[in-house]
Amino acid sequence: MKTIEYLLTIDLNYVVLVLIAVFFTLEQVLNTQFYFKNRLGHLGQAILFQVVFFILNLFWAAIFVFCVNWLNQNQIGLFYQIAIPLWFKLILGVACIDLMVYWFHRMSHTFPLVWKFHRVHHSDTTMDSSTYLRAHPFEVIFWFGSASLLAVVIFGLDLQTVGLYFLIVTLFQVAEHANLRYPAWLDRTFGLVFTTPNQHKIHHDQDQQYTDSNYADIFILWDRIFGTYQYKPVAEVKLGLKEFEDPKKQTFWYLIRNPFFRQ
Ligand SMILES: [Zn+2]
Ligand SMILES: [Zn+2]
Repeated sequence: MKTIEYLLTIDLNYVVLVLIAVFFTLEQVLNTQFYFKNRLGHLGQAILFQVVFFILNLFWAAIFVFCVNWLNQNQIGLFYQIAIPLWFKLILGVACIDLMVYWFHRMSHTFPLVWKFHRVHHSDTTMDSSTYLRAHPFEVIFWFGSASLLAVVIFGLDLQTVGLYFLIVTLFQVAEHANLRYPAWLDRTFGLVFTTPNQHKIHHDQDQQYTDSNYADIFILWDRIFGTYQYKPVAEVKLGLKEFEDPKKQTFWYLIRNPFFRQ
């Protein structure tokens, strides 16, 4: 428990920086999955997304912490009704947020307005760990932020659980987008319960049958249970979306404005 408490004191922004630095280096020296023309340019565009997110999140995080503290003080949520050990409450709490995010992610592929924002993340025609950063800040904050908050309201989670969730999901997501060759046996073992990088890359396939599958960030179990699990060899995956293939549509400036275009 002490280790978890210590881990949760680390600023998540540093965790993201260190993870991207480590995976970016690995992708530079190891045998990679996808071909890249301009890696540094791609990284630069992704960092711009993170800068906007960082600024907006300063406000959002303050509101979020205030809401969670208020809910906890008033003992709102299911977990306040049952007595369970702390360690189990943590694991269950992380799973509950992941489940809520699964449904919000699934809805973002269904509702046209949300898809306009979410497809910014899917637009990447090449992929490396920095693709993790490439998401519309409005979507990350307002849509997925609401998913976490709703999980807190329903299940009665505390900031420790939410912090642990964000730590784990960041680790998963950076690894899931990394341009590295992950063995297929990982999908047959670890991938029975947890989301593997190959499974998430299938989610980034252009073929809509696969785009609309493997929504889970941590527990692929949700896709298996709710019938959205799909698999194919990662070598057959064609990344991105047809409407974003033009290199001009791959820049931060184009993508950040794109959801507001009249189409
Ligand atoms: Zn998606
Ligand atoms: Zn992704």
